[in-house]
Amino acid sequence: MARVLSADSMLHPSGDLRPGWVRIEDGHLTEVGEGSPPAGAEHVDGILAPGFVDVHCHGGGGAAFDDGAEAAETARQTHRSHGTTSMLASLVSDDPARLLRTVQDLAPLVRDGRLAGVHLEGPWLSRERAGAHDPDLLSAPDATVLEELLGTGVVRMVTLAPELPGGTDAVRRIAAAGAIAAVGHSDATYRQTREALAAGARAGTHLFNAMRGLHHREPGPAAALLEDGEAFVELIADGVHVHPAMLGWVHRSAPGRCLLITDAMSATGGPDGHYRLGRLHVRVDDGVARIADTGTIAGSTLTMDRAVRFAVDEAGFGAEDALRAASEVPARLLGRDDIGVLRRGARADLVLLEEDLTVREVLPAS
Ligand SMILES: [Zn+2]
Repeated sequence: MARVLSADSMLHPSGDLRPGWVRIEDGHLTEVGEGSPPAGAEHVDGILAPGFVDVHCHGGGGAAFDDGAEAAETARQTHRSHGTTSMLASLVSDDPARLLRTVQDLAPLVRDGRLAGVHLEGPWLSRERAGAHDPDLLSAPDATVLEELLGTGVVRMVTLAPELPGGTDAVRRIAAAGAIAAVGHSDATYRQTREALAAGARAGTHLFNAMRGLHHREPGPAAALLEDGEAFVELIADGVHVHPAMLGWVHRSAPGRCLLITDAMSATGGPDGHYRLGRLHVRVDDGVARIADTGTIAGSTLTMDRAVRFAVDEAGFGAEDALRAASEVPARLLGRDDIGVLRRGARADLVLLEEDLTVREVLPAS
């Protein structure tokens, strides 16, 4: 049955917030218009936007994607209630056999569309920039293991440190398989990052976090990623991982290429206390997750709606740009034109927000 929703403020494919309306039929948008809606339209108060797309998320609601399909469903529903309607399941570094089993366990959720794919964050990461990954599990890329993982057909993104032996070849292979090679947890120099981009890397994983810093004599990965006209950069807009001034600066430096991620771990949506991230123990205090032994920041407890509000309230993003950075930009990184934007033919994944960008409703209902 068709349903027409109209709002005084809607995020149009052009990126503007203006009055508009959508016709929903069989889970898709069959018409998108501006101005006065057709007769019988339901008027909704607030801002109508595409459902959020999170390409870097480890879990939520007490559940981690590393624990397989059942946990994935809990994490998915937790983030869904905060406006995220498409997500990659990010897996932390693990031994190859266990990683493959987890990917195979999650594969049915990718095939039926509940997940947009799997994101492997490791194990081919720099020990110098391990962050919250268990250093004992990190290694240089192994071509056989990589082929096995890519062969599942559900891996959409791989974060790796391209400076490791075999790193550039791995980037080439990931790109050739149609997945996204992302530079992250990396001690790569500016030159090494440029080489990775030339080999087909397309993104920077949580820019600035767990990568060689931006320095005037050795600009590192951040400068190489930002100056590349096509690379996408992920930002964790929680006020803990990156200073708001840097968020605003990146947004202005890379318009249309900077995307918000949550990097959320299992504690998201739950109380402070003890949790796990892979094999490591994490303590969450005041919503900030840290590895219990070392105090290293261990992902976030962020939800995408809060990231959008932080970007607007603290980092100077316009509401349109923050909403796009949480929907259209990550969808473009994934090569998806059926999500992240309210256009004819797209999935009817919608989030209805209050004027202050809190979530009022997520459609469809489940
Ligand atoms: Zn990370």
